Amino acid sequence: MRAVTLEPGKPGSLALEEVEDLVPDPNAVLVRALAIGVCGTDRELIEGVYGAAPAGRARLVLGHESLGCVVSAPQGSGFAPGDFVVGVVRHPDPVPCANCALGEWDMCRNGRYTERGIKQADGFCAEHWQADPRFVVRISPALGVAGVLLEPASVIAKAWEHIDRISARSRRSPQRLLVTGAGPVGLMAALLGTQRGLEVHVLDHNDQGAKPRLAHALGVAYHVDFPQLELDLVIECTGSPEILGQALQRSAPGGIVCLTGLSGSRHGPCIDLAELNQAMVLENRVVFGTVNANLRHYRVAAAALAHADRAWLEQLITRRVPLGEWQQAYEKRPGDVKTVLLFED
Ligand SMILES: [Zn+2]
Repeated sequence: MRAVTLEPGKPGSLALEEVEDLVPDPNAVLVRALAIGVCGTDRELIEGVYGAAPAGRARLVLGHESLGCVVSAPQGSGFAPGDFVVGVVRHPDPVPCANCALGEWDMCRNGRYTERGIKQADGFCAEHWQADPRFVVRISPALGVAGVLLEPASVIAKAWEHIDRISARSRRSPQRLLVTGAGPVGLMAALLGTQRGLEVHVLDHNDQGAKPRLAHALGVAYHVDFPQLELDLVIECTGSPEILGQALQRSAPGGIVCLTGLSGSRHGPCIDLAELNQAMVLENRVVFGTVNANLRHYRVAAAALAHADRAWLEQLITRRVPLGEWQQAYEKRPGDVKTVLLFED
């Protein structure tokens, strides 16, 4: 079968190649790939700055944002041929640590987890893939190709769960949200914000194209300059240290700043920790980071997508690339929100 693979750590090693067909595991769900989403992590893998192949191998099958159709499933697994499914990216570490043992591998404490298509486990960018039924999530077939958005949505579903738990410390819940960055993760954060009835603002430097159009279609305010508003909640999706600095300054007393983006090696403005401490203690602010998702977040995300406007979700997919032109899927083009590689037309 064909698969998109690379040699982690080696730039320029990305290829569509013939790999050995899967040996079906009777205890696994066998899935025919429909689509794969491409994100910044894939580009980092392609640039060789990140990633690890499975033990004893040089190459890794890429792809962690999946959508597929079940070919076969073990009896009693809860899956049946024809189901639309998505594979869970992170799997628990082998020890396992206290959190992985409880199914909260998104909170792994020892860093020995594996991630499909990223770290020591083959991804989903192959004509077929299989997975333990415990790491497969069913989604509504009515979502069509938009089902490929489940993985990025799961990351935001986790962020919202943690925001809710922090918010529960006071009786007034956040009412005004700013999402920084109108990429797929930011737009998912805005979508879930509207589903909760918040006043939602989105900040992004693109003043035209799909991003402002998608924000307006969602009915949220769109800004290209940091809005001069008191913010109950900021969901930071850019990783920009400058944006983070402004988010901290603009958060309201009791405000929450949730960090989901990565800064890489960028250095930002220096922060006076004494001043930050003062602002956090005297006005009950919270800043926290979140990454990845466990099974319950995938399920919450699946429900959120099922309740969203399908046409809006489909517009988030700004480029659809057939497998025959696979290289184009990994190019970054102006105006891209989500690019998807299609295994079938
Ligand atoms: Zn762990």
